[in-house]
Order: sequence, then structure tokens, then C-alpha cells
Amino acid sequence: MYDTIAAVSSSGGPIGLIRVSGEHAIAAVEAVFRAKNGKPLSAAPSQKLVYGTLHDKNNNMIDSCFAVCMRAPHTYTGEDMAELQCHGSTALLTQALEALFAQGVRQAEAGEFTRRAFLNGKMDLAGAEAVHDLITARTAEAAQNAAAQVMGAVGSPVREIREELLGMVAHFHAIVDFPDEDIDPILFDDAAALLHRTTTRLYGMAESYERGRILREGVPCVILGRPNAGKSTLLNTLLGRERAIVTPIPGTTRDLIEENVKVGSILLRVSDTAGLRDTTDPVEQVGIDRALAQASASSLILAVFDGSQTLGDEDMLVLARAAGQRAVAIVNKSDLAQQLDIDRIKHHFEHVVYLSAKTGEGLDELLHLIPNLVGLTDGAYDGALITNARQAAALARAAERCEAALYAAQSGMTPDAVVMDAEGAIAALGEITGETVTEAVVTRIFSDFCVGK
Ligand code: GDP
Repeated sequence: MYDTIAAVSSSGGPIGLIRVSGEHAIAAVEAVFRAKNGKPLSAAPSQKLVYGTLHDKNNNMIDSCFAVCMRAPHTYTGEDMAELQCHGSTALLTQALEALFAQGVRQAEAGEFTRRAFLNGKMDLAGAEAVHDLITARTAEAAQNAAAQVMGAVGSPVREIREELLGMVAHFHAIVDFPDEDIDPILFDDAAALLHRTTTRLYGMAESYERGRILREGVPCVILGRPNAGKSTLLNTLLGRERAIVTPIPGTTRDLIEENVKVGSILLRVSDTAGLRDTTDPVEQVGIDRALAQASASSLILAVFDGSQTLGDEDMLVLARAAGQRAVAIVNKSDLAQQLDIDRIKHHFEHVVYLSAKTGEGLDELLHLIPNLVGLTDGAYDGALITNARQAAALARAAERCEAALYAAQSGMTPDAVVMDAEGAIAALGEITGETVTEAVVTRIFSDFCVGK
């Protein structure tokens, strides 16, 4: 049993939600709330909104509001909970919290409600982590994936695999404990079949992280090109508004301009950069250095060339920087007479798109290509994509240990070799659901949460 905690759980809207959880949650809210119907709050049925007024410790009215009590164990945290729906001003909500603190309630720490939900068995650790992803999701698709994971899209299959491995290990333990008895070869065959299936499945889940991370964090992408190639115009066209300054004067964009653009189901975190060229202007040089550094840190380069010009020395800087990275050559200004040596561009780039950033012609092709390039085109965000580095690492470890156990089972090694590796896999899977995770890891996970969740 934990102490009673409270926090503001809404963020800045006209309605403010205060959430209270713990043994004294209902009593504490009852002490600061007068129901209009004159009945004590604790007499109200669970989950029924009650209208009334909120009071400070001197009985001054703070607000008119709704209160609701929710009784354990059917609550988010698994404890008794109560909530107040007040008006949303920070001053008012602070007063309301102080009134609760006067009743012996304390301020909740970051993620403490969800941590309690996990500790009280209301959700597994993978589900709890997905709550954070859900709150911080930047696209509808990322939110959809996270919502499915809150409901167990990662925890359920991991638990299922873990149970299967536990069953297999139990069989092998029987042999390890009675070494004189003959070993049924079917046992090894069955174990090998299970381990083979499981290894494939676990590697598949671990590998989905590459795409899952893109879904959650977006794709860092840089627009590179010589001055006047049309980089800022391209950014503006992608954004559908004037963000970057577009002029015919080379060297206008001197620093990075960063914007988020939704392309299909992915978030492109685009940086427009200073045009690459040799310059004696120290300020412009700083911008160019930043552009080059940003290109190295990006997962995708949009290399813009002016199709109406021949290739120049400045374009060579772009070709050199894009080499070896995931990149698209954009031959811009397709609305003008073309002079660019396309064969040389094609020699350096696997993907070439012809467009006019000015008229928007050809843009659809680019928008179609980008999700394909980063491997995020399917429409089903059912939680199957792993979006969490910790989970991905544990899945990869579990897969490796399963593979080692498979090798042991197939090559006629002693049963305890199979058991040792399978138990390693079981422990790694337990880190995902939370069965075998350390207190320090749990603390770190929930410290990333916001207060009030
Ligand atoms: P940046 O220096 O690479 O950012 O280039 P800007 O986006 O500032 O564009 C430089 C000049 O090229 C401006 O006058 C733009 O209007 C013009 N421009 C950009 N894209 C196109 C295009 O697709 N067609 C034509 N005709 N002009 C363009």
C-alpha cells in the first residue's frame, strides 16, 4: 500500500483535471469538496460525476467543479482514486492541490500514477512505456501504434513466447534432475522446432524497431544544394506556406531552418540549409559548416540541383556529401528549359525526382518515394512495430539466446546447455513485460514521464 498522491493531469486547456490516487484519495477529495446534492462524495457510486464546489482549508470556495470517485481495483492505478474537473487556470489548480496537500496528500512524481499501475499489475511494463509514447506521439499513426501497445500489442506476444519457453525448460529440467534416465529424442526435436519458430519471431520483432523508431521520432532530413537551386522554395512547397525566405540572391538562407512535414504516414523533420559554395563571408561559412554537419546527422538527404543550369563546382560539394547516405536527387526547376547533365546525377543517385518547387509539379512523386525509402508504407499501425530502444535490445538478446539454445538442441549438446540459453531468453523477455526488470530500470523509465500521468 502506497501513500496518497495528487497531480494536475491536464495541460493548459480551459478545464483542469486533478487526479488523486491512494488509500485516502476519496476521503481527501471529500474533505475539500461539497456536493450540491448535500451528500458526502464517498456515498456516490464509482465513476459517477458529482457537481459541487471546491474549498480551501479555510473553507473559502476555490471553484465550482465536478468530482468523481473510482474504487479499487477497477482504476488506472489499481488503487482508490478520485478526480476533480475544475476550471483550467494554473493559479486555481495550484490552490486546489494545496487544499489536498492540507489533507495529507502529497505531490505525485513524474509517471507515478502509471508506475503504480505497473506495480499493482494493472499493466505490464511494455504497456506502461507505450503510455508515454501515446502522450508524446507526433502523428496519428504513431499514436495508433502506441495505443495498441498500451492494450498489450507488445506485452501479449512476448508473454506468450515466454510461457512457451518456460514450458519447454520445465520439461528439460526433469531430465537435468534425473540424468540417469533415457532422453526421449522427440523432446529435442520438439524443442528445436519451438526454438526455431521463436528465434525467427523474436528477430522479426527486434528488427521492426528500425521502422518503429521512424514512426515515433520521424525522419531527420536535410535539404542540400548550391545557392539558388531552390532549397527554400522546396521547403515552402513541402510545408504549403512561406517559412523560408526565397529570393534570387544567393546565400539568403544562412542558418538552419527546421520544420516538421507530414509525408504519408511519416514525420519528416526537415532542415533547410545554407547553399553550399566556397565563400569568404565568415557568417555564411558558419551556415555552410552547419549544413554539412546536419547532413551527416540526417537519415535522408534531399539533394537539390537546378535543372536549368549546367553542373557546377558547387554541385560537386553536394554530390560528395550525399555519397554513401540515403539520398534523393531532386532536379528542380523542371518548368524551365533543362541544361543539367542528368547522366552524371544518375551515376551518383539511385533515386532521381524531377520537379518544379515553384509550381509543385512532380512533388507527388517525391512524396510517394520518401515513405518507400524509409520502409514505412503499410497502413496498419496495430502496435506490432517496436518503438522503444530498450525493448528492441531485450528482444534482440532474447533472439540470440534462443538461437544458441536451438544450436544446442540440434547439435546434441547436454540438456543443461539448452536450458541455460533458454533461461537467458526468458529473462530478457521478462525485462520487456517487467517480470525480471530491476528497480533502477523501472525508476529510469518512469522518470521520463510527465507529472500527472
Ligand atoms: P535556395 O537558395 O536554394 O534556397 O533557392 P531559393 O528557394 O531561394 O530559390 C532561388 C530562386 O529560384 C528564386 O528566385 C526562386 O523563385 C527560384 N526557383 C526556385 N524553385 C524554382 C522552380 O521550380 N522553378 C523556377 N522557375 N524557379 C524556381
